[in-house]
This record gives sequence, structure tokens and C-alpha cells, in this order.
Amino acid sequence: MSKTKTVEEGKKAVVIGSGVAGLAVAVRLAVRGFEVVVFEKNDRAGGKLTELQAGNYRFDAGPSLFTMPQWVDELFEIAGEKPQEHFRYNRLPVVCKYFWQNGKKLEVSADLGKTDESVVEEFGEKPGALKNYLQKSRRKYELAGEIFLKRPLNRLKTWSDKKVIRALGHLGRYDLFKSLHKTNRSHFKSPEMVQLFDRYATYNGSDPHRCSGMFSMIPHIELHEGAYAPEGGMYAITEAIYQLGRKLGVRYVFGEEVVEIIHEKNRVKGVELKSGERELADMVVSNMDVQLTYEKLLPEVKMPRFRKYEERSSSGFIFYWGISRNFPQLDVHNIFFSRDYRGEFEAISRGEFSDDPTIYVNITSKYNPKDAPEGCENWFVMVNGPNDSGQNWDELRAELRKKVIERIKSVLNVDLEKYIECEEILDPVRLASKTLSADGALYGSSSNSMMAAFLRQSNKHGRLKNLYFCGGSAHPGGGIPLCLSSARIVDELLAEDL
Ligand SMILES: Cc1cc2nc3c(=O)[nH]c(=O)nc-3n(C[C@H](O)[C@H](O)[C@H](O)COP(=O)(O)OP(=O)(O)OC[C@H]3O[C@@H](n4cnc5c(N)ncnc54)[C@H](O)[C@@H]3O)c2cc1C
Repeated sequence: MSKTKTVEEGKKAVVIGSGVAGLAVAVRLAVRGFEVVVFEKNDRAGGKLTELQAGNYRFDAGPSLFTMPQWVDELFEIAGEKPQEHFRYNRLPVVCKYFWQNGKKLEVSADLGKTDESVVEEFGEKPGALKNYLQKSRRKYELAGEIFLKRPLNRLKTWSDKKVIRALGHLGRYDLFKSLHKTNRSHFKSPEMVQLFDRYATYNGSDPHRCSGMFSMIPHIELHEGAYAPEGGMYAITEAIYQLGRKLGVRYVFGEEVVEIIHEKNRVKGVELKSGERELADMVVSNMDVQLTYEKLLPEVKMPRFRKYEERSSSGFIFYWGISRNFPQLDVHNIFFSRDYRGEFEAISRGEFSDDPTIYVNITSKYNPKDAPEGCENWFVMVNGPNDSGQNWDELRAELRKKVIERIKSVLNVDLEKYIECEEILDPVRLASKTLSADGALYGSSSNSMMAAFLRQSNKHGRLKNLYFCGGSAHPGGGIPLCLSSARIVDELLAEDL
């Protein structure tokens, strides 16, 4: 970031929404010298990155996997603070435990040599197959990640940069125009390893059979750079960035919804609030879902036609269960795979749940014992699923609950029902109303087309010169690291205009 450029005194910026990207952009703008006001319709910060309490159990309500912690640290660094004095995290020794219905299992350890051996023994892959795949993954990240994750794509400067031109020279190596599934099939012979690496498409709610093979760069991020656990749980990320903003003088207004972005000619002038008040500003950043920003806040501004038809990311159904016993055979992140992964994504694209869904169980009490009473565990159980299109969610809740309990019984041989002490749920309708995400999509827009990266909303509006976008539905996409990257790109674009 260009640290030297600051704004003249008295310049004001409004941020709509306090999701992780909104919080990060508020910090960056405050560092630039803006007077920053964040309007948040909820009574607390975080959006999807929030927490909940049920009985004696604490749960992270949304994200559970934390990668690229250095992008949170960077916010403290630009503010002249020492990150570790405000926000601590530890690398997880076990990245994820995988369970298949044929009895096979795999512990993916941060010690990749150990994992490579298990892959050979359990799945008959060639020695070094995993290492080789991950080396390619690293190469893709180093070349393409630089372009697609860290820079604005609709700017000539990006494409004329020497580093980018060099990266483009290796385009053939990215598997850009091949699906992730095909990419994985060309590397691994066992269906289990193909399924394991296909799962990375779900990291932004996409389908491995339709998203680009470039997604195979994500395992590098998780397995080489590491999966982390913030001390205090995922909500500590929200809390740390929020407190940093407060220290920098950011004003947060909770319980206040923005209902209009005021604009005149080619510039935005500020926002109008549900309470009827107006807040005038020199620039506005929307951390609200892009489609809803156009529909609700800018009704007179034409939304690009393709944006209307942009495919949303998938959603999911989440059970938060207080479990009155320990499961030593499980770790922080656990996956119980379906038998037919392709069928599962086909069901999702029809607006249905598969009869045999993949189940994800996250247990933060494994690293943060305070999250559950002694001898107990807090289970966040997620089944990937479709967005809300009017399904009967109460009926689905009962069906999915039964399926999850049956699957746990068949794999772990335990009647889980006996141990569920308390339960909360999150379905796409609730998610949509809590965070104003269109149709309850978990990650904003999907990457279910080879062109998705180019079609996603850029971080600066084309016509309204001082309107910017950050968050999961804007470039470069969903997930905490990319949301943080969107905030950084907004700041860089802004700096060019100063
Ligand atoms: C169940 C679940 C699991 C996930 N798992 C992971 C994971 O493991 N790892 C990972 O990296 N990511 C994960 N994600 C994705 C990640 O949570 C999101 O990509 C990220 O948190 C989105 O942040 P955001 O900045 O886009 O804002 P959001 O979290 O979408 O928040 C937007 C905020 O803006 C507010 N708002 C909207 N409109 C207005 C308005 N008009 N006026 C005022 N306020 C407004 C909303 O109330 C909300 O607080 C998961 C998401 C979910 C839901």
C-alpha cells in the first residue's frame, strides 16, 4: 500500500456494513486519514463472522477455517501496531480428518511427509503424488494468485505490470480452462483423493465439475501456508479488527440500516438511513451484497445485466449442537464424505439437498476448551446445500438432522442423539435476513464458470467515481482472506485517485 498518501483533514468516508471486509476497509481508510463512519444494521460487528451462545456452549456462527492470518496482521502493521499484542493465533497440527463410507479415513497433518505416506498406504497413490500436486498448487498460487486474488482485474495497469505479463506467459500451467475435477483426476488415481481435492471448490461455494482447475491453488494455501486457530475462536478476528478501528477513531453505528446511496451526476454524496437521517460523505464503500446494493440502495442506477444473472454461491444448513461427551477420534475440522460427490452438486444446482450429503463437523472446543463444559464438545455441523428458493426449511431441517445422525452412527458407531444437549440452527433464510446476503448464499457469487473471476463486481464503480465495493460478492470473492484482499484493493484504487 502507498502509505505516504493521506487525505486532507475533514474528508469523510462511509462504509455500509461491518462484515470482515467492511471492518478491514474502515481501518485502512482511517489510516489514510479519513473520518470513517460504519453503518451496520445488526447490533454487533462481523456479519457472517459472528458467534452465538447456546446453553453453556459458545459457537462460531459462520466461518471456521482460518488461513492467511498475515492478512489480518497487515491491518495492525499499517496502523503502526504490533499484531501479536492484539490478535494471536496458532497453526493447527492436524488440518482436517476425512472419513469415507467405505471405511477409509485420512488425517491430513501439517506434517506433509506423514500425510504423503498415509496417502500411499491407504489409497495406493504413488509415493510423492501428494507432494507433486502441492508443488503445482504452489506454482499456480505464486503465478496466478498474484493476479486473481490481489489485484483489480479491470485496470490496464494490472495487465501491463511485468510480473503479471510473466505470469501470463505460463497460462497453460494454471488449468484455467479445465475443471477442478478434471485437473484432480489427472493427478490422482484413487476416487477418494480426487474427492478430497475436489472439495476445495466448496471453499467459495462452487462445484468442482464447473469451476476452473485454477482452484487447485487453494490446497497450497491450506496445506503449505497452514490452517490456523485464532485464540478465542474465529470471532476473535472480528473483535480484533473492530477494536483496532475504534482505536483509530472509526465511528460504528449499530442498529442502523442504509436504505439509499445518494448520488448526483457521476458522484455519490453520502447515504440515507432507515431512521430518515442522512450522512454526507466524500466517498462510500459498500460491504453489502453487490446485487442488493444495486437493487435496494441504487434503484436508479442500471445494474450490469449479467450481474442480475450471476450465479450465487451455494448455501448450507447448519446445526450448532452442544454435545455432552468427547470424541477423541475427531479433530477441529472433520469431513464425512458422500458416496456420490457429482450427484451432490447436481442436487444443489436443482435447489435440493443430496440424499447422501457430505457433512462437515467443526469443533472449536478442541483448541478453545472454554467453548464447552468439561467433557463436552461444541459441534458446528454443516451440510452444503442450495440457496433459498422457497424450499420448506422446517421440513428439510428434520430430514437433514436425521441424515446427519444416521451417518455419524454408521461411521463412528455412536448414537449422537443421546448426547445433543442443546441445538440452534442456521438455514439460508435466516442467513439472508441476518446478513442481507442474496438468497442466503454463503460466499456471494460462485465461481461456477471459467469466466467468473472476470465477471465479478470490480471494487470501484464504473460511473459513480467515488463508490467502492468490498466483501464476498465483489472481486476477488468470498472467504475471509479474499474479503480482506478486497479491502486492500479498494484502498489501492482510492490511493490512485488521491
Ligand atoms: C456458515 C458459513 C461458513 C463459512 N465458512 C468459511 C470458512 O470456513 N472460511 C472462510 O474464510 N470463509 C467462510 N465463510 C465465508 C465468510 O464468512 C464470508 O465470505 C465473509 O465473512 C463475508 O464477509 P463480508 O465482508 O462480505 O460481509 P458479510 O459477512 O456478508 O457482512 C455484511 C454486513 O453488512 C451488513 N449490511 C448489509 N447491508 C446493510 C445495509 N444496507 N445497512 C447496514 N448494514 C448492512 C450486514 O448486516 C452484515 O453485517 C463462511 C460463511 C458462512 C455463512
